[in-house]
Amino acid sequence: MSHAGWLQKRSAESFHNSESHGSSVINRYCVLCGPFLLDFIDKVSLISGHAPKREAEVIGVAPWDENNIKNVKMFIVMTKFGGPIVCTTLDTSNRDEWMASIQQVLSSTIGPLLEELEVVWSESLAKKQQQQHQQQQNFVMDPPQPLESDTCQRTGAPFGITLSRYNCVSCGDACCYEACSQEITLVQYGFESPKRICDDCYLAQLLLLHTKVIYFILFPNSYPLP
Ligand SMILES: [Zn+2]
Repeated sequence: MSHAGWLQKRSAESFHNSESHGSSVINRYCVLCGPFLLDFIDKVSLISGHAPKREAEVIGVAPWDENNIKNVKMFIVMTKFGGPIVCTTLDTSNRDEWMASIQQVLSSTIGPLLEELEVVWSESLAKKQQQQHQQQQNFVMDPPQPLESDTCQRTGAPFGITLSRYNCVSCGDACCYEACSQEITLVQYGFESPKRICDDCYLAQLLLLHTKVIYFILFPNSYPLP
């Protein structure tokens, strides 16, 4: 699975920054070898066994948006390291050959991975829709009943004249002021204003928030969360 021929290459950034076409274009004799794009200074250096000037693992290919560029036919090769490389060929039929070869490579390398991701995403979407449906049906839950206790269920200190009892609105446990001093909005229980919750529930809320943030960074398109 290999393809060889001339490519003109330039970085996407240099293309955006440069008004004058041509100055930053480099002619390379390129070889597509499996998922790797190797570029040589010329055909002779390939034949004589020189090391390629650069090599990059191809993970995607896309036609360049021709509306933005006059009179050139280009495509973008996305590589694992170093960002996208903008390539062009001397004629369009040559370009189509390159794109076809790269797409063929991708179908056998990252193709199965993309199919797997598609399954994960469609499952996640179905789950999200189901949850939204449930939320519409019973959008407010009853808060837990305040529990009776003579002592703080966190510190064990006895309630009395000097120690008041508070109930965590999130879990209902009876706590002293020290163990139940955080306030948070609990929309799932229909409260608009912040309510007092215990340290355990506060920590759980923080962990949930962190998990959401990390998930959002990993899968930015998934927000709001499934
Ligand atoms: Zn609690």
